[in-house]
Amino acid sequence: MLRRIKLSNPHAKIFITGCYALYDIESLKQYADGFISMQDKKQKTLIFNKPKKDRVRTYIKIQDGCDEKCTYCISSRLRGKPYSKPMSHIEKELKYAYEQGFKEVVLTGLNIMLYGLDINTDFKTLLKRINTIKNIPEIRLSSLEPRLLDFETIDIIRNGPFKPHFHIPVQTFSNKLLSIHKRGYTDKHIAALTQYIEQTFSRPGIGADIIAGLPFEDKKDHKKNLVFLNELPFTYLHIFTFSKNPGTPAANMPTIKDSIVKDRIRELKSLDERLRLRFKHLNAGKKQNVLMIKKNTGLSDNYLNVNTETTFPVGHIQKLLLYLKGQKLYGKYS
Ligand code: SF4
Repeated sequence: MLRRIKLSNPHAKIFITGCYALYDIESLKQYADGFISMQDKKQKTLIFNKPKKDRVRTYIKIQDGCDEKCTYCISSRLRGKPYSKPMSHIEKELKYAYEQGFKEVVLTGLNIMLYGLDINTDFKTLLKRINTIKNIPEIRLSSLEPRLLDFETIDIIRNGPFKPHFHIPVQTFSNKLLSIHKRGYTDKHIAALTQYIEQTFSRPGIGADIIAGLPFEDKKDHKKNLVFLNELPFTYLHIFTFSKNPGTPAANMPTIKDSIVKDRIRELKSLDERLRLRFKHLNAGKKQNVLMIKKNTGLSDNYLNVNTETTFPVGHIQKLLLYLKGQKLYGKYS
């Protein structure tokens, strides 16, 4: 039937869904532009599309949901308890992504560190299994919740096909705010984690999510954010402004004046620029693997945008010598 549909609609995009799609990717892939997994009513996960000419990275969603109790979070309240994709499905998707020519896969989810708890396994076990699979693309992990991140996980990541890039939703370094907002870790834990990552990898990319204007954030808390972010080996920030989400405990907490929050955002943005530049300087003069996303633009393993003056084939991973031109990072053969 699929063959008939394809023949009579040569320009149509065909997506295959349902359990069978995952069990028989091999025989179906000649007809499909993509597969959609529907493990239950809640989960409708687009696994991937066939790569277009310039398509070199893709995403695999490994779980959804979260049962943590962060006071400001609406996503966990909307998406419900964690549920995970079986490991065998993830393995098939990784292998298929490799066959299709993808060079990098990002593993995503609402809280990927909760992977497996509903199916009697866990995130570390998934990582260890991935470390044993042959012929898969290199992998970038999305956000890693600090409460659950530990040295052992970092060691497992070091021994696998994972990029030296960690994105940590720190949110704040104020222990007072971490406790009020039920984050479950302290400033010391973040410091220990980032220092361990820095010692374990060569020039790792380390990003932080930071929320400005969390309820009860005072001048001292904001100052502490600036000091810790600068002193620890962070390489970039994603800055968010606190917003009240109806139905969350934080929605009933006192808010900070808009003008104060704006000032704090401005200071955080300027720090972000300095951290990015500091990381570029750290990498200048060093060789780094760069995945070419466009003819003259690539993404390094450690999450730097790299420009090139000569053209490289899209989708190739090149070891390039990095150098600075003004504030822009470039790479060349050497
Ligand atoms: S851990 Fe993340 S997803 Fe879960 S409740 Fe907290 S902020 Fe939301």
